[in-house]
Amino acid sequence: MTRTAIITGSTSGIGLGIAEAFAAEGFNIMLNGFGDADEIEATRAELDAKSAGTVAYNGADMTKPDQIEQLVLQTEEQFGAVDILVNNAGIQHVAPIEEFPISKWDAIIAINMSSAFHTIRAALPGMKKRGFGRIINIASAHGLVASPYKSAYVTAKHGIVGLTKTIALEAAQDGVTVNAVCPGYVLTPLVEGQVADTAKARGITEDEVKNDVMLKAQPTKEFVTVEQLGAVCVFLSTEAAASVTGVSMPVDGGWVAQ
Ligand code: NAD
Repeated sequence: MTRTAIITGSTSGIGLGIAEAFAAEGFNIMLNGFGDADEIEATRAELDAKSAGTVAYNGADMTKPDQIEQLVLQTEEQFGAVDILVNNAGIQHVAPIEEFPISKWDAIIAINMSSAFHTIRAALPGMKKRGFGRIINIASAHGLVASPYKSAYVTAKHGIVGLTKTIALEAAQDGVTVNAVCPGYVLTPLVEGQVADTAKARGITEDEVKNDVMLKAQPTKEFVTVEQLGAVCVFLSTEAAASVTGVSMPVDGGWVAQ
């Protein structure tokens, strides 16, 4: 049976890496995220060629509950099921709270946290009915520990960890697992953007941010890769992972072990 996965925010970075890993396993995939329409279509076609399944795209805006519901409904209509839901879309803003724009707070809470409430709310009934589901929330090491100047992000990611545990309990007897993956730093466009902002907030150079702030927290002194995260998500999607639920798994080079 070909399983179907929705991956939110999969036009870039970690989401795209997870899509690559699922394509290699032959899943049907519903891509989602923003970007240049031609580039997205090229990505979709490339993944479609790699996967034994079919790869489609829906551009739902994760700040809009009605579009999120349509994303789930369209996927169920096209593929007959949503077996795997990866809540990955996210944005970042780095600033001291006194200077934190209210609009950025609202956007981060909506995209990084509330969107997962809306996708799960729409997808869980079908998973329960079919007796199989895998919900994977891409949280962060910042879902488990804090750093200064990231008030909205740390709040949203801690919220996602709480949502993960709650829905794991609600779905435990229905063949549905709910887990969070908590990456350390991955060099994606989201992090590249943060380097400059953090340099400004802390009054240091961009190299100092990479080496002394980001990798300072990671004992391995290596950035996490999207391939490593894709492999973890593939494992969580298997039958073998049926008893792994309610877990928030750090993939962070030892960051939160300290
Ligand atoms: P990225 O900027 O490379 O990708 C973000 C994706 O989300 C893109 O596809 C973008 O189009 C999409 N997106 C943004 N706003 C959206 C919206 N309103 N509706 C739909 N899609 C939207 O970022 P990334 O680094 O790959 O981050 C992906 C996830 O991983 C985020 O939740 C992030 O918090 C988390 N994360 C990243 C790191 C890291 O170091 N990069 C570490 C821990 C957790």
